[in-house]
Amino acid sequence: MLIILDRDGVINEYDGGYICSVDEWQPIPGSIEAVARLCKAGHRIAIATNQSGIARGYYGTDVLDAMHEKLERLLETLGGCISFIAYCPHHPDDGCGCRKPLTGLLEQIRDHFHLDALKGSVMVGDSRKDLEAGFAEGCQPVLVRTGNGQDTERHLKTHPIPGACVAIHDNLSAFSDAFLSGSGLVKNE
Ligand SMILES: [Mg+2]
Ligand SMILES: [Zn+2]
Repeated sequence: MLIILDRDGVINEYDGGYICSVDEWQPIPGSIEAVARLCKAGHRIAIATNQSGIARGYYGTDVLDAMHEKLERLLETLGGCISFIAYCPHHPDDGCGCRKPLTGLLEQIRDHFHLDALKGSVMVGDSRKDLEAGFAEGCQPVLVRTGNGQDTERHLKTHPIPGACVAIHDNLSAFSDAFLSGSGLVKNE
């Protein structure tokens, strides 16, 4: 299965600010191992991440690439890999079509894998915009309680995404374990 991950607050620690350097990019404990387990079970992993810090001039694509090399290096030692990373470098005011909750990043991922649609894929995020983008493209939305996840969970209780059944897990590691045992997509209340 294709599993699409948001980055900040799902794979790496995120406190609401910007991750501007390789040193600031720190994995959430257990998240790299979780991705490796999914890979080794035969699933393909892609990332869809908003990175408006680029348009804001906080860091360049060279630094972004270096963060992703760090991720790939850590993952490789555990026998996993990320198949494709799609990022939106734009400012929210730029009017692009790729900044989540819009679906451009997911369309890039769909095209990368030569798929007709993402229906049946999974989108894991910590923010509502991740879940909305995934759901709009036919993915099963999964919320993790890391990063913005607890705020998102509270908000969803009063403002559900119409028609969406969101599965919720404490973190990527818990999702990975549940998914691999066949229960990760069940709505968890
Ligand atoms: Mg996030
Ligand atoms: Zn964009």
